[in-house]
Parts: sequence; structure tokens; C-alpha cells
Amino acid sequence: MKVIDHIRESKGTHISFEILPPLKGKGINALWEHLDPLLEFKPSFINVTYHRSESMFKRKSDGTFDKVEVRKRPGTVGICAAIQNRYKVDAVAHLICGGFSRQETEDALIDLNFLGVDNVLVLRGDAPRNESFFEPEPGGHRYAIELMNQVMNMNNGIYLEEDLKNAVKTNFCIGVAGYPEKHFEAPNMQTDLQYLKAKVDAGAEYITTQMFFDNKKYFDFVTACRNAGINVPIIPGLKPVSTKKQLTVVPRTFHVDIPADLSGEILKCKTDADVEIVGTEWLLQQSKELKAAGVPVLHYYTLGKPNIISNVVKAIL
Ligand code: FAD
Repeated sequence: MKVIDHIRESKGTHISFEILPPLKGKGINALWEHLDPLLEFKPSFINVTYHRSESMFKRKSDGTFDKVEVRKRPGTVGICAAIQNRYKVDAVAHLICGGFSRQETEDALIDLNFLGVDNVLVLRGDAPRNESFFEPEPGGHRYAIELMNQVMNMNNGIYLEEDLKNAVKTNFCIGVAGYPEKHFEAPNMQTDLQYLKAKVDAGAEYITTQMFFDNKKYFDFVTACRNAGINVPIIPGLKPVSTKKQLTVVPRTFHVDIPADLSGEILKCKTDADVEIVGTEWLLQQSKELKAAGVPVLHYYTLGKPNIISNVVKAIL
């Protein structure tokens, strides 16, 4: 079932989770151990992130270095199918422009279609860690909207090889990303919203937001979207803070603020176990307020912390 149909068919607030594929070499059992306890909350869908390969330097025996491309977290398409098979819950496959040619993207979409995965979250991806700017792959897409257009084309039976006869029309429901605190490369919120509107006008059926720790940022973002003529559901993305280190890592990685009240409480903590208690309570209060405001879905980035998510969701259901 499509994400948009879940939202349309039930007026209450849905629950959904986002997981990462395991690091290469790890089995899928670690993922099941992470997800199994969360299934009691009956998520309407589960997102699986997509990861580009990273350039790494490997030392050779003569002391010089070889640059190699390593994909650390492969498996998104297979995991989506395994989730649907194991839990009978819809999976949402993330798709990114970075590191993929149009042909590779088309093949991934064909696989997803064959496997009965009807939901994709279409993203650009970021620059590799050791590069400052995002550059598309040769034959790849520069912006998420271009990738979206490729998915929309396949939904209309148009593949890259133009003369295919009676090509199957796929049936993907497409979501896109939105940024309550602005995408870090956008010159201002207004420009960012123009590009977001272009994605929605091109066929995106809902928006999932970057994480935020101050609900006002989400509420203001929804208002700004509506004023800009963006009228699709906007799903809030939520993540717990559970270590002191995250006070610097989260803003640097995700370009979001941690409110002074929260950082103040975290700085008072003696151990990360104490931080986890503070982070859980903060996420719980955020979730309660968003649910009371009638958000369509509470979407949790589980990121190795299923116990926190579990405690929060248990308390709000
Ligand atoms: P875009 O929509 O392409 O926007 C990127 C920037 O370009 C923005 O500043 C925008 O304002 C601007 N822009 C957009 N269109 C145009 C245009 N036509 N001309 C000029 N400028 C334009 N990353 C991963 O690698 N894997 C994941 O699985 C993943 N999942 C995510 C899930 C969510 C919910 C979110 C919020 C982010 C996720 N990301 C993921 C991170 C995401 O890839 C990055 O934030 C990336 O920098 C931007 O992606 P986007 O799809 O918003 O890009």
C-alpha cells in the first residue's frame, strides 16, 4: 500500500520508522533484532536509507596509497523486500542521485517494482565525506527533482531506452525531503521552498522532514509551505539525542539547531545513560505535542536506538 493511501485512509497519527542497512559483512539478523521489538507499535511503513560509495585510501605494500570506492551499506532494495515479506509492512526505499547513473537507478526501480515495493523517497544525497561539493555521477542526476522525473517517467511507461514496446508502467508513490531549518546549501528559505514546490508540482505526494528538536520549527515550516502553495502532507522526522557527543555531531552533520533548554540539560548529565533519559523525555514531549496537533505520521529515525523509540512510542499510543 502506498504511503499516501495510509495517510488518506486513516485520520489518526501513524507511526513509521527509518532504518539503515547493516554495515557490509554484517548479517540481516542484527536488523531483525533492532526492528522486531518495534513492530508491536504497528508502523504503517518502514523506510530504508540508501548509501553511496565512499572513496577510501588503502595503503599498498610499497607505502603508497590506492584510492578505492567502497559501498559500506549496500542492500537497500533487498532489505525492503525482506521487510515486506517478514512483517507484511510496507517498505519505503530511499533513492539517491549521488553515486548512481540513470541506468543504475532504472535497474534499482525495476527490481523494486518486481519485488512489490511501491514506495520511494527520492533524494539527492550528499557529497562524499572528503569532498566539499556534490557532483553528479557521469550520466547521473544533479538534483532530486531530476531523479523524481525519472521515476514519474517510469510510472508512465517511459524508460531510458525510448523505443521499448509496451513497457510496463510502474506505480511508485514518491516522497521527497523538506528542511524546517532550510537545506544548508540553499541561499534562503524562500528559494529552498521554491525548489521544494517544484518537486511537489512534479509529482511528489508527501514530504518527510529533516529532524528538528524544536517543534516550532516544524509548525513554522508547515505554515511557510502552505503559504508557498505546497499542500501535500508533511511528515515530521524525529530523532532522539542520546550522547553528549551528539551536541556537536548532530548540528555539524544535519545542519540543525539543538535548543538551549535541551543542550543545557544534556550538559548537566554525568554519563550518556543520563543523556539518554533527557533525550527520551525531550522526544516524548515533542511527539505528544505533534500528535496533539494532528500530524499525519510520527516518523522516527531509529539509528541504533530502538529502546528509546520504543519507550517513547509506548507512552504516546
Ligand atoms: P534537492 O531537492 O536536490 O536539493 C538540494 C539543494 O539544491 C537544496 O539546497 C535545494 O534548495 C537546491 N535545489 C533543488 N533543486 C534545485 C534546482 N533545480 N536548481 C538549483 N538548486 C536546486 N541522504 C542519503 O545519502 N541517503 C538517504 O537515504 C537519505 N535519506 C534522507 C531522508 C530524509 C527524510 C532527509 C531529510 C534527508 C535524507 N538524506 C539522505 C540526506 C539528503 O540526501 C541531503 O540532505 C541532500 O543534501 C539533499 O537532498 P534533497 O533530496 O533535499 O536535494
